[in-house]
Amino acid sequence: MIDSAAVSEISATEARYAVAISPAMRALIQTPDDPIGLQFIPDPAELLTAPYESADPIGDDALSPVKGVVHRYPDRALLKPLLICPVYCRFCFRREHVGPDGGLLTDAELQIAYDWFAAHPAVTEVILTGGDPLMLSPRRLRAIIATLSAMPHIQTIRIHSRVPVADPDRLTSELAAAMETDLSLWLVVHANHAREFTPSASAALRRIRSMGVPVLGQSVLLRGVNDSSEALEALFRAMIANRVKPYYLHQLDPAPGTARFYVPIEEGRALLETLRGRVTGLAWPTYVLDIPGGFGKVPIGPDYRRADGSVRDFRGLVHPG
Ligand SMILES: *Cc1c(COP(=O)(O)O)cnc(C)c1O
Repeated sequence: MIDSAAVSEISATEARYAVAISPAMRALIQTPDDPIGLQFIPDPAELLTAPYESADPIGDDALSPVKGVVHRYPDRALLKPLLICPVYCRFCFRREHVGPDGGLLTDAELQIAYDWFAAHPAVTEVILTGGDPLMLSPRRLRAIIATLSAMPHIQTIRIHSRVPVADPDRLTSELAAAMETDLSLWLVVHANHAREFTPSASAALRRIRSMGVPVLGQSVLLRGVNDSSEALEALFRAMIANRVKPYYLHQLDPAPGTARFYVPIEEGRALLETLRGRVTGLAWPTYVLDIPGGFGKVPIGPDYRRADGSVRDFRGLVHPG
């Protein structure tokens, strides 16, 4: 039973931030504070912004040359065709409300974004993100991929999405078929707990693989969700079992109201160390920090080589380098 004070606090949270959960994720919640419930159920603590938190924690806004494009690195740029998502993670810095159009770029805005890519031949990779690009209709996704594929300097398209795992029924064969291209197309799926890999998620991932698309995994290190050696091992093993290669384990971006998920970097490094050697190297992601202020992502360890050149093995024994 939820009392009325708690209900009004949750309403205040919903007034400030977008809230959504898919049927697949709802079905996995056993208690509100379990690793699935924590990710999606709004919490009044989101209304408190810590001094170090920011609505633009990784400095994307300043790096946007035209609407929907974010350009930080020389060879690749983000394209965000729409801003809605099938689920809103309570730690996401993009969980602000968007208008009734879902932040969908208009045809004219999309054309300006394409023109930007056409004018930047050094950018050889387009990363479709959002929101979630797999919330687009198959027709629109197909059109975007076809237009990018026709640009001679574009070599790689990458789609970052939570849909295949968090809302797998949305990943129809028709949507998978919209990923057809002769370019090198990769999908990076976001998942944070082993239990998210349900039979439906596995089936959705198979539909993507049937298009010949390699799938990588990205996760965020989160207090109460995956901040134990066992949880991380189970998560990465679930990815490998689903032919998903763990790519990045992200340090949490300091978005407003996310302090309850914060895990210190030293703790993250120690957790990853417990997996080295014990768990197949295939399951090892790069632990990365998106440096606040727009300076990009960098690996943050753990390190096995010391300044004096000596190296530590996976058991912790030190050897001359
Ligand atoms: C994360 C990110 C990328 C992709 O970085 P990779 O290290 O290649 O995965 C590209 N552009 C921006 C602005 C990003 O935030």
